[in-house]
Amino acid sequence: MIVLGFESSCDETGVAVVDADRGLLAHALYSQIEMHQEYGGVVPELASRDHVRRILPLTRQALTDAGLTLDDVGAVAYTAGPGLAGALLVGASVAQAIAWSRDLPSIAIHHLEGHLLSPLLATPRPDFPFVALLVSGGHTQLMRVDGVGDYTLLGETLDDAAGEAFDKSAKLMGLGYPGGPALSRLAEQGDASRFDLPRPKLHSPDLDFSFSGLKTAVLIKMKSLPEGDEQAKADLAAATQNAIVEVLVAKSVKALQQTGLKRLVIAGGVGANRLLRERLAERLTRLRGQAYFPPLELCTDNGAMIAFAAAMRLKAGMVDVDSRNTAFTVKPRWNLEDAGKRPEVA
Ligand code: ADP
Ligand code: MG
Repeated sequence: MIVLGFESSCDETGVAVVDADRGLLAHALYSQIEMHQEYGGVVPELASRDHVRRILPLTRQALTDAGLTLDDVGAVAYTAGPGLAGALLVGASVAQAIAWSRDLPSIAIHHLEGHLLSPLLATPRPDFPFVALLVSGGHTQLMRVDGVGDYTLLGETLDDAAGEAFDKSAKLMGLGYPGGPALSRLAEQGDASRFDLPRPKLHSPDLDFSFSGLKTAVLIKMKSLPEGDEQAKADLAAATQNAIVEVLVAKSVKALQQTGLKRLVIAGGVGANRLLRERLAERLTRLRGQAYFPPLELCTDNGAMIAFAAAMRLKAGMVDVDSRNTAFTVKPRWNLEDAGKRPEVA
């Protein structure tokens, strides 16, 4: 069956076509980053309006690239939450309109389930069960994944997300938005050992994270730097990246030890970070485990992961293909564990 999937939870409009048996056929993506840059972060109302502008051209593009038309589509999927309400409503409305007009089932997908399953779009593909490290701009969680829809939260951040720690530190350094990629680029030229930054909860026995203290420490160091000392800034960027990566690696390893599992799946935008990828791969090799990453271009938000999660749910028999949800809603706040078993009724 062909699934047409929509993602519009934040500042990326994504549309994708997935064949439940053959995998990803095509995906089209538009990032609003440039538009939000001048405000230093995402402006929700502008985001919603831009999704409206992009979503139909992207849908046409994805279908054309897949060599298909709407007549070939067997089910429609969309991100129902969590995210910005107005932005979510754009993808949900378009998906529902197509489903309704074509008498197709519509499948509401949890955004993090999309991220969580996205490493399964790559080869080698991890088998269940595995531990997933979800590191995005809004979330930092360790999950035990026993199958599609079977998710147990092992630990999460008590305050800022890892991506947020990257973004906020980068902002303090004047690196603009989104700061993660910019900070990690600058860090390449820096010496991390020059600054001693805190690694919150590094040795705590639980699997929770805390990153807000790090941001304060970066602010204090930043203020102490001589004006215009670009090398010192690069060193601070390297130290910040090191602190975040070290905590993420340590807690991921602890999660594997506590669950007795050997496979670690990394998902979400911060999963694009090179140092994190290297360090995790290294540690996992030593532990005789394996780290799995989504393809680099599918680390941040995209429609492919949403269409793919829906296809996996279809294959697992978790979608009632005869039901027609003419009434629908979105869930700006939505817990992944709750979404687990029956997310198609959002
Ligand atoms: P969300 O859906 O919560 O917005 P995404 O999964 O789209 O999150 O990821 C965006 C986050 O990933 C941002 O915080 C961004 O700074 C971070 N990010 C992207 N690339 C990198 C990188 N190379 N290093 C560190 N962080 C990164
Ligand atoms: Mg995301």
